[in-house]
Amino acid sequence: MSERYPTVLMFGPPGSGKGTQGKAIGTIPGFFHLSCGDVFRQLNANSELGRVFLEYSTKGELVPDDVTVRMWHAHLQNQAQSGQYDPAYDLLILDGIPRNAPQAGMLDAHIDVLKIVHLVCSDDEAMIERLRRRALKENRLDDTKEDVIRNRWRVYEEETTPVLAHYDKGLIADVDALPTPAEVLHGVLEVLIPVQKAYRAQVED
Ligand code: AMP
Repeated sequence: MSERYPTVLMFGPPGSGKGTQGKAIGTIPGFFHLSCGDVFRQLNANSELGRVFLEYSTKGELVPDDVTVRMWHAHLQNQAQSGQYDPAYDLLILDGIPRNAPQAGMLDAHIDVLKIVHLVCSDDEAMIERLRRRALKENRLDDTKEDVIRNRWRVYEEETTPVLAHYDKGLIADVDALPTPAEVLHGVLEVLIPVQKAYRAQVED
């Protein structure tokens, strides 16, 4: 087994449904979904890391890169050690990381990117509405305020879009994020099934 985790990256602006899609894919054997934001949200709010997370996320800002990558890697190693994640069998579906070019560089040591699913959406207002609904349903402080939502978008555009430039263009597959979640899932699976098949064939060789 290669030391770098075989990985698919999920990309898309806040509200594009990458978390929903990642979670759905993660229920299928052979895929392991990890959302960086979920790992942060699981932290105890009174722990040092939990306080750092709240300090940044309540403003819609990114947590500093070194803290983020260290926390992410430690979490992933725990999941592998506890048997939740089997790198020899599961494709890692990463959502919310890397968020900027320095993180992409830091992650190169840990992941082998086989594909990038890029959820694209042409209707900004539809995405904002999704974020508002989710904030109410999931009690997410970061998305209850309009200015925080807009700041998260600005951060996405400024920092995350250039991350794609870090990777080979041939790895990127655009999937339309505007149809229903089931239709988007269909589009994502059309991209991922061949990747999984190729990976299994390589492992079983
Ligand atoms: P998300 O659920 O992915 O939208 O993330 C919610 C918040 O968690 C973000 O606004 C950031 O404050 C923090 N966060 C999540 N992932 C990262 C990351 N890769 N780098 C830095 N901060 C992150």
